[in-house]
Amino acid sequence: MDIKTIHQNFLESSGVSTDSRNIPVKSIFFALKGDNFNGNMFAQEALDKGAFKVVIDEKKFHKDTGETILVENVLVTLQQLAYFHRNYLGLHIISLTGSNGKTTSKELINTVLSKKFITVATKGNLNNHIGVPLTLLSMDSETEIGIVEMGANHLGEIRMLSEIAKPDFGYITNFGKAHLEGFGSLEGVIQGKTELYQFLKDHNKKIFVNANDAKQLENSKGISRITFGDSNADFIIKLLDGSNHLLVEYDGIELQSNLVGLYNFANISAAIAIGAYLNVSVNDIKQGIEEYVPSNNRSQLMQRGSNTILLDAYNANPTSMMAALENFKQTKGDTKIVFLGDMFELGTESEAEHQNIVNFLKENNFTKVFLTGGNFYKAKNNASHIKQFKTFDDLKKVIKTQELENATVLIKASRGMALERILDLI
Ligand code: ATP
Ligand code: MG
Repeated sequence: MDIKTIHQNFLESSGVSTDSRNIPVKSIFFALKGDNFNGNMFAQEALDKGAFKVVIDEKKFHKDTGETILVENVLVTLQQLAYFHRNYLGLHIISLTGSNGKTTSKELINTVLSKKFITVATKGNLNNHIGVPLTLLSMDSETEIGIVEMGANHLGEIRMLSEIAKPDFGYITNFGKAHLEGFGSLEGVIQGKTELYQFLKDHNKKIFVNANDAKQLENSKGISRITFGDSNADFIIKLLDGSNHLLVEYDGIELQSNLVGLYNFANISAAIAIGAYLNVSVNDIKQGIEEYVPSNNRSQLMQRGSNTILLDAYNANPTSMMAALENFKQTKGDTKIVFLGDMFELGTESEAEHQNIVNFLKENNFTKVFLTGGNFYKAKNNASHIKQFKTFDDLKKVIKTQELENATVLIKASRGMALERILDLI
């Protein structure tokens, strides 16, 4: 069956489903394969649960009832369908990638743009070779602007995702040390992320560039760009106060965000600039920025008893951890406690990167530092205010006996560490 016909089926359906445990009525089920599952095996179950059609790629599951669509490769078909649908709709797409801050920027951009346009943005973190197609397929003829987050852990991925989403505008949040395992080095990361710039350049499209970031300026030379920054840029945005929830100024107006962490200045600025460029009024931009409240353990400021907690346990890599520590250095407070957990996916750089963080901690006067995880445990340390624990359970034993009062606390680690569990202990 050709893509056009599959698309016709898609238009008649209630949308795409990929998880047989959750089949919306009349959805079109794509039988994807993973390391531990084969969607083909659930095709009949999906139909029994009310799916309209199922797309499969194994002949033995095919039935001549008109409900099964047999294709060569389900994943490729999903991607081709997304591409076809995106062109069929003819809307505007803004794509963003980068090592850190994609989801936060995406949500801020979406809250701002949705003041003026009908938008659809990536849900949660659905930013890979499956998530990007699903995001595109969640758009319909009402949608005016799509905001698509693109993640990558190896070269070529952003190019491939760009070819599916065909963005009209692009934004790279930053180049950082994330997914070093797949990219090999920071140079690899830069090359990987700039595949988005290359795509936009090849197609005469525009990029938004954070002019406060020298690396971004350098890597976007020669591409039609719209800049923002605190000086020498198309859109001037100033940070008025970064000690608590960030307060910024644009066009003579103050915007009070609900975000902490100096690194969020770039994320907020991007949303302001993109909104302004697309003619969202200053008041609507202000409202959008002010109403966005972060969730999912991302840079949340909370109060627990007498303690102020900066919970950033959603994820971590060397760049975001250093940004969080630099920020914490400047945060007010007499008693500053740092809880860090291991950073994953660093490949051969892992040991050096954990040591680098410990060295930074040794030189900075935080009151106490608690490091958890096999990687941090191995790092060399002779500072008495820095304690290392192999596992969360080891840490737990100590924390229980620790009296924390009137402290400012930072919590950060890779997702796999689930370091937000500390909240139950303090
Ligand atoms: P993922 O790779 O999981 O999709 P992401 O790029 O979408 O991550 P966010 O979820 O927005 O990033 O933020 C994750 C963490 O990255 C934040 O909690 C914060 O610590 C850090 N961070 C956010 N924005 C920036 C930034 N502009 N520069 C550096 N670090 C940032
Ligand atoms: Mg994300």
